[in-house]
Amino acid sequence: METSFDVIIVGAGPAGYVSAIRCAQLGLKTVCVESWVDVANNPVLGGTCLNIGCIPSKALLESSALYEKLKSEIKHHGISTGKTHIDIAQMINRKNRIVNELTQGVQGLFAANKVALVSGVAKLRSKGQVSVEKTGSNEVVVLNASHIILATGSSPIEIPSARFDGNAIVDSTGGLEFSEVPKTLGVIGAGAIGLELGSVWSRLGSTVKIFEALPDFLALADEQIAKEAGKHFRQQGIDIQTNTLVTRCEHKGEKVKVTFTQDGKEHLELVDKMIVAVGRRPNSENIAADNAGLEIGNGGFVSVDDRCRTSIDCVYAIGDLVRGPMLAHKGSEEGMMVAELIAGNYAQVNYGNIPAIIYTHPEIAWVGKTEKELKDAGQNYRTGVFPFAASGRARASGDTAGMVKVIADVDTDSLLGVHMIGPHCSELIMQACIAIELKASAEDLALTMFAHPTLSEALHEASLAVDGRAIHIAKLRRA
Ligand code: NAD
Repeated sequence: METSFDVIIVGAGPAGYVSAIRCAQLGLKTVCVESWVDVANNPVLGGTCLNIGCIPSKALLESSALYEKLKSEIKHHGISTGKTHIDIAQMINRKNRIVNELTQGVQGLFAANKVALVSGVAKLRSKGQVSVEKTGSNEVVVLNASHIILATGSSPIEIPSARFDGNAIVDSTGGLEFSEVPKTLGVIGAGAIGLELGSVWSRLGSTVKIFEALPDFLALADEQIAKEAGKHFRQQGIDIQTNTLVTRCEHKGEKVKVTFTQDGKEHLELVDKMIVAVGRRPNSENIAADNAGLEIGNGGFVSVDDRCRTSIDCVYAIGDLVRGPMLAHKGSEEGMMVAELIAGNYAQVNYGNIPAIIYTHPEIAWVGKTEKELKDAGQNYRTGVFPFAASGRARASGDTAGMVKVIADVDTDSLLGVHMIGPHCSELIMQACIAIELKASAEDLALTMFAHPTLSEALHEASLAVDGRAIHIAKLRRA
């Protein structure tokens, strides 16, 4: 077996596998070590995102959205069908097939790019050296390389008040696998995972209650967008309780008895299933020998600089393992940056331009600063808001919830933040990201011709509104 490489990458999630492919494209002799295996001990590539995160959740969101549309929306189009029925096993099979195709696809990309794959548990021994306990044997091999990239990802956080039991109290992975629709579903944490999985099962018929510890709903999002989101989720029947701390979850027969405190009072609730989605922690335990000198900081994140360089020369760390939002695309960009740096090229990640998306209905998406962040920083800005209710395309689609908000610097007009809630915002937000990357101003967006009728026009109109000249919405005048 070959043991000498230019680059060793530990982890084949969206940070690691993308980095491996880019390293190989740049002519570096690359090996990727992955510990995840299936029941037959075959290596599983793609990490959390492809296997138990972004992709399977989007597959279930799609199925559940279709089900809901058939049940409630199509009659407005004059379409009728028989009684709507959902086969959960078939829905889960479809999700698994999509995951399989994509993870196989990564294997294919490794082969096509000549990225070597080693299945096993890797540990950084020292600068330039990684030991691997190979899958299915006690054999330990030592790999050498001039550069090492750590990309071991993250795992769901478990809290003492709700220990996972793999059946009734589950993490996000369990929340993708229920064999039937729970009548009542509790979710701890109103973050991206809680809202997305809560939406899936709510659409399929569960009564969903989300317990959120913080006083503010969606504290990371712009306040106006968060408020609008809260309104729509409540209309959908998702009960979001903020300022609410779950103190105990106990089994009561097949159900879960939840004890929680709210306004200083203790309450009880029975649910069929409980999903715990209170965040994730970096997989940094045991990734390096004690004497290797790898610095690990607060929260278990591997300490890195803005180029993902760790405390050890020629050892990099990327993705969920390091500071910054735990997002697949952020990890992939870091992976590509590090590959370029190793090849001797200039590269950097623009950490000020990372899109955040929550794939609920309406979809929530943003990039850049919120109004609150700008106020706190004492920065002067102007805003322009355009509601989808005033968009012809949104009306034609019957999808009019939400708005686009553009925030621009009051002096330079540069784009400081763009926040959206509404139809297809997961796609629309990328127009704002491109504009920010190319240092566009709100005026640049306002001067661009947008096709009609499109949802994108809402971004155009919101940019015009920054200067008080949106066309399709009357300006509110003070009496
Ligand atoms: P999160 O950090 O987004 O949200 C967790 C929520 O749980 C927070 O609102 C927090 O206040 C709350 N919380 C924490 N402890 C609590 C407690 N004891 N009781 C009640 N509430 C509590 O985490 P997540 O939703 O688990 O997602 C994990 C990571 O994965 C995040 O970084 C997220 O960005 C990422 N992710 C992203 C997407 C996406 O981009 N669409 C989807 C899923 C996950």
